[in-house]
Amino acid sequence: MLEVEGLSKRFGGLLANNDISFEVGEGTILGVIGPNGAGKSTLFDLITGFQPPDAGEVRFAGRRLRGLRPDQINRLGIGRTFQKLKPFTDMTVEENVMVGAMQHTPRPGQARKLALEALDFVGLLEKRKHHGQALSTGQRKRLELARAMATRPRLLLMDEVTGGVDQRSLPGLIALVERLKGEGMTLVIIEHNMQVLMSLADDILALHLGRKIAQGPPEAIQRNQQVIESYLGGAYA
Ligand code: ADP
Ligand code: MG
Repeated sequence: MLEVEGLSKRFGGLLANNDISFEVGEGTILGVIGPNGAGKSTLFDLITGFQPPDAGEVRFAGRRLRGLRPDQINRLGIGRTFQKLKPFTDMTVEENVMVGAMQHTPRPGQARKLALEALDFVGLLEKRKHHGQALSTGQRKRLELARAMATRPRLLLMDEVTGGVDQRSLPGLIALVERLKGEGMTLVIIEHNMQVLMSLADDILALHLGRKIAQGPPEAIQRNQQVIESYLGGAYA
């Protein structure tokens, strides 16, 4: 479904993504790991058109995405959430999600219907009249997910699914990803919690200093010497 070939991105003297290639099959979950600054969020920006790559190619369902805007790429079927949660604070939860739904319909009534479905899915329906700033981090993550879901993606990129979330909110978020998986959604998830990935991911892509250092099934990645040294650290080993 997704083919990434030789993606590179330079910020001044820093190679944030350095010749990254991988594929994601329909209905599978790819986990992305790597220390802070490894280039994970940049990779999402390149795939979704928020940043132009310096080199490389992205294909979605066989179609080249080069030169397309984020909204165009989204309409083709790629949704994403953001690591930095920035809901429109002067809008209600429902209106925030309607912004996503309006990728599909200019009609507010129809957009509201899609938004309410998405809010129901993530368990935020009773907060629909609240404003963005009244939400906890876990609830903002759910709002992010609802907004992305309301765009009706076939492929969903989730940046830091459980990052910054308190222990209490964790199982609920993981259950949501499991439900998406159960519904056959193709997912790429940036996630630091290895235990979460062991149960969810079919494959894991490990990044370090902008480079892909390993890819494989979770059990193999967990034992990979380079991954252990660069990311998981001595304690984990
Ligand atoms: P990760 O998500 O793995 O923590 P990022 O992709 O956010 O890493 O960042 C990779 C590197 O690129 C970091 O060193 C970061 O400071 C840098 N970087 C990311 N975005 C920009 C940008 N827009 N301008 C300059 N440097 C950036
Ligand atoms: Mg990041």
